[in-house]
Amino acid sequence: MQSYYSHSNLTSSENTLHNILDIVSDGVWDWNVISGKVKRNAGWFEMLDYDINTFENHMFTWENNIHPEDYQRVIDHFEEYIKLKSSFYDIKYRCRKKDGSYLWVQDSGKIVSYTDNGKIERMIGSYKNINNEELYNIKLKKQNELLVNDNLNLENVIEQRIKELKELNKSLETKIKEVEYTGSFDTVTKIFNRRKFEELFDLEINRAKRYSHDLSVILIDIDKFKKYNDIYGHKKGDEVLFSLASLVQNNIRKVDIFARWGGEEFIIVLPNTSPLDAFNKAEYLREKIENTLSIEDTKVTCSFGVSSYIDGDDERSIFLRIDKALYLAKHNNRNNVKVL
Ligand code: GH3
Ligand code: MG
Ligand code: MG
Repeated sequence: MQSYYSHSNLTSSENTLHNILDIVSDGVWDWNVISGKVKRNAGWFEMLDYDINTFENHMFTWENNIHPEDYQRVIDHFEEYIKLKSSFYDIKYRCRKKDGSYLWVQDSGKIVSYTDNGKIERMIGSYKNINNEELYNIKLKKQNELLVNDNLNLENVIEQRIKELKELNKSLETKIKEVEYTGSFDTVTKIFNRRKFEELFDLEINRAKRYSHDLSVILIDIDKFKKYNDIYGHKKGDEVLFSLASLVQNNIRKVDIFARWGGEEFIIVLPNTSPLDAFNKAEYLREKIENTLSIEDTKVTCSFGVSSYIDGDDERSIFLRIDKALYLAKHNNRNNVKVL
């Protein structure tokens, strides 16, 4: 490497220093603070692809070649050192090359002499081309950031998926409930339908058998309901069915099973209820309906068939008796309760 500045006007120890710097660094600068001149060796120009002696040998040459994004950081660091606020000058930054691209360098310098009145007289520094390492480090850093971001993205995706799955689960549960509801409930009266009733009734018969408990059943049939439909229309008829269902539901116990048997017929299963209590309950409901329900000015009444479980009964045998009881009630001028 050829030195730009002449070693001949340096003392022999300075000469030795510059030769060493030539060997260990990629560029050397030597700032004479008193004259303001900066000597740069050939390596400095070669490193940045400039022809030797391209620039004025003052400090602005250095400043002008610093990457704008690094400029302030470098100047601040340099000033701290020359104002003796910092004990070293050693910094990485980008230096502009001849083709306008930038090269990462490590620039380190040291004040080597002071004037008699304590001012800085001379500072010598050297550059190292650290472009490859630095670009590699930057690449690694970016990859790392991407990895972190990817992980974050993955976490977000997972979180989003969990949220979606939870929502899906919720809507499935709602759907299941809807299906169960439509499968078990009557749409007009919102009480159990016949399918659900039969399932529950079967359980109650088994329970009554198991524990030798009373079990009573009330069958309700609206009197002359066809007439209401004919006079007031099917929609009004539906409203009566709904009102009657609500009225009965509000006047029985929670343990009682209440369902729409079909058409204008309703059924109540009363666990642990004697025939007499069942009769009383039916009578109570009959009266309540008569006094509460009406279409326009016409009272709505019902006939009731009541029966209770007896040993050896099954669903069919109980219903034969209840049907018969209801038949008797109908033929006893309606709006009354018969027990069999
Ligand atoms: P009875 O006193 O002998 O029981 O006379 P009824 O008119 O009540 O008996 P019937 O079995 O002759 O008629 C039952 C009527 O119930 C026939 C039908 O129009 C009506 N009905 C059955 N299901 C529904 C329904 O879901 N909505 C409405 N509005 N009416 C219904
Ligand atoms: Mg009927
Ligand atoms: Mg009827």
